[in-house]
Amino acid sequence: MDTRAFKRSLHHSDRYNRRGFGLGDEVAGSLQTAYQSDLVASLRTNGYELRRGRLTVRLAEAFGFCWGVERAVAMAYETRRHYPSERIWITNEIIHNPSVNDHLRTMNVQFIPVEGGVKDFSEVEGGDVVILPAFGATVQEMQLLNERGCHIVDTTCPWVSKVWNTVEKHKKQAFTSIIHGKVKHEETLATSSFAGTYLVVLDLAEAQLVSDYILGKGSRESFMARFASACSPGFDPDRDLVRVGVANQTTMLKSETEDIGKLFERTMLQRYGPAELNDHFLAFNTICDATQERQDAMFALVDEPLDLMVVIGGYNSSNTTHLQEIAVSRGIRSFHIDTPERIGPGNRITHKPLGSDRELEEPFLPAGTIRVGITSGASTPDRIVEAVIERLIELSED
Ligand code: SF4
Repeated sequence: MDTRAFKRSLHHSDRYNRRGFGLGDEVAGSLQTAYQSDLVASLRTNGYELRRGRLTVRLAEAFGFCWGVERAVAMAYETRRHYPSERIWITNEIIHNPSVNDHLRTMNVQFIPVEGGVKDFSEVEGGDVVILPAFGATVQEMQLLNERGCHIVDTTCPWVSKVWNTVEKHKKQAFTSIIHGKVKHEETLATSSFAGTYLVVLDLAEAQLVSDYILGKGSRESFMARFASACSPGFDPDRDLVRVGVANQTTMLKSETEDIGKLFERTMLQRYGPAELNDHFLAFNTICDATQERQDAMFALVDEPLDLMVVIGGYNSSNTTHLQEIAVSRGIRSFHIDTPERIGPGNRITHKPLGSDRELEEPFLPAGTIRVGITSGASTPDRIVEAVIERLIELSED
């Protein structure tokens, strides 16, 4: 069965739910207690700024939980209510945030184990409930769970589904999907599983290599050596780069995705001429609004005078990493942390620089008046942002 037909049949199954259970009011209190923050709410209504002694905190004007994440987390809470005694699993994190995943563990929601990057579904049985996360699951995983007789609660963000529809359109029209994303990220794995022929490019530099190949530069051997693990089985660059459409992981750097789209449009124009362009390039629009807003707010924030930035979010969160990249590209001292506990004890911070392991920085806060910019990724609850601000206040008072 092809992926579209499978999706259609799944959507009609009474063991599949993608709309929640109408229990929003029942779970609202638990969500409020676990994730929301009065302090952050008051900053939102007071110009996103807070002053305490020598410290000024400046929040980005768009940050934290996005609509798709709020929806996924609420659906997970509703699922526990709706199935009070069934075994519930998540494949394999609801979102990329350790505190949210820990909350779900305390509600006796189990996580599908991952060994060497491969999910182990061996313990999942018919009748179990399996929640698919906001960034989706592969079509093969959905087929496996469906065949096993599981109840599937699909929290995939509609923005991600939109990308899947885009690559399915490419497939139907015999275009190769060039996916701007991280080849091992769950969302990109899922998107690839819905595509026909595909090639994943990490950034503009990789896209340029592909463009060069289309224009006759570079050898087939070195091309395949570079992209062997980032393309569909049997990919042939001479056959499969003649008609291309671009799609993206929704949390990539928006400006880079746009540049990659323009690059391929120019490349096909150069290779085939304007009259033939529509037969060789499909335009796209799969950038998620929330990612765009958070990145735009970050660009505005880093234009202000800041002594340092704290970027909060899971270390495996792609959208958080891109916020950190924006700060680093402006030469700002910026610290990516996943939990408030990374700050202290004393005037120190344990943070993750781009592309390397965690390291300790001491002293963290400089002497004198300080202006600290703060933002957080789409998977980070306000409660975590509040705890970081409280630690900064304590440290600045020491
Ligand atoms: S970042 Fe965008 S695509 Fe991802 S869950 Fe949030 S709204 Fe959806």
